Amino acid sequence: MNPRKLRKQITTVFDGRTHHVCECRGFRDGLPVFGWGEAPSTLLTVSQLREVDMRPNGQDPVALLVFRHHKPYARETVAELFSVELAAERRQRPGQTDAANRALRTCVTCTVEQDYRCPTSTRQCWTCFEIEQADRLGVAA
Ligand SMILES: [Zn+2]
Repeated sequence: MNPRKLRKQITTVFDGRTHHVCECRGFRDGLPVFGWGEAPSTLLTVSQLREVDMRPNGQDPVALLVFRHHKPYARETVAELFSVELAAERRQRPGQTDAANRALRTCVTCTVEQDYRCPTSTRQCWTCFEIEQADRLGVAA
């Protein structure tokens, strides 16, 4: 499946609280397909939920995210998107101190403490991560 070849379509996504009217790249298995950064911000993949210490909580995926990895090669990946509204907090692991939590929430690039945990792969907040991805694409173009 090549998402770039799909015609953009307007769809409505319900995240458990709000109906979002948005543009998707078509449908797959009855679910709207979004590219990176195109889905409503209340929809996260399982790994994104895990980064902020949440889990899908038994809900069905509401959409699909199609993206390409920058490394080691541009492999296309499809991930299920779940609603943050319907997600549940994961149990706090014992022995985690406030200081450790603060460190996990602090972005290494802008050094701002976020209200969510920065992904362990980049240690950056989503904003800095997206800026860096955009820069990388700009350099490659
Ligand atoms: Zn940042």
